[in-house]
Formats: sequence, structure tokens, C-alpha cells
Amino acid sequence: MTDCLFCKMAAGEIQPDVVYEDEQVLAFRDINPQAPVHVLVIPREHIATLNDLEERHAELVGRLYLAAREVARREGIAERGYRTLMNCNADAGQTVFHLHLHVLGGRPMGWPPG
Ligand code: AMP
Ligand code: ZN
Repeated sequence: MTDCLFCKMAAGEIQPDVVYEDEQVLAFRDINPQAPVHVLVIPREHIATLNDLEERHAELVGRLYLAAREVARREGIAERGYRTLMNCNADAGQTVFHLHLHVLGGRPMGWPPG
């Protein structure tokens, strides 16, 4: 997708503040952090929303979470705790339509989320 911000990051056309990357996923700091640690983990492949996941993406979704685990370790929040979440479409407040897993930590999280 040429007009997708996160595809441009995955392709290296825009350089985010990268925390972790491998062949399938990229993790970078959110530009508008909602916690002391706020990292987004994206697949390099363009997938618009959680609704667009297919059976063939099963391993890739696992890779997103393995990357989140690594981000938490590197950022020093693994033991204290952190939250991972994906917003899907309007009611959840999704604003960027390239699948991304938020990794939030460094402060206590409220529940339920707003
Ligand atoms: P969501 O609301 O779940 O779609 O999350 C999109 C996230 O992308 C928001 O937390 C934004 O702050 C973040 N974001 C938007 N543009 C950028 C950017 N250029 N670099 C890093 N994060 C971004
Ligand atoms: Zn994209």
C-alpha cells in the first residue's frame, strides 16, 4: 500500500524510532505516547484491521506477540507488567489502518479501559 504510513515505515521510506525488528515485524515508539513506554508492533505486510486477518496469518500474529514480549524485556517493563492491545475500527478508536499491537507500560493501567 503506497499511501499507508506504516507500510512506508516497514519499507524504510520513513524512519520511526525502532525498538525491535525482524523479517516479519517492526516495533517502534508511538509518536504520541500514552504511557512512559508506548511501542507499536506492526507486521511488515499490510493488513488493515483485525477483521482482515486470515488463517494464513496465524503464525504472523504469534510473531507480533513474540516481538511484544521482546520489547517489554528490552524496555524493562516485563516483570512489573504491561498491556498489549489492538484497536479495531471506529468504536475502538482505530486511526491508522495498518494492523498494530500497542505495548504500553511503565505505569499502572486502569481497568476497564476508556
Ligand atoms: P490506533 O488509534 O490504535 O489506530 O493507533 C494509532 C497510533 O499510531 C496512535 O497511538 C498514534 O499516536 C500512532 N502514530 C500515528 N502516526 C505515527 C507516527 N508517524 N509514528 C509513530 N506513531 C504514530
Ligand atoms: Zn500498510
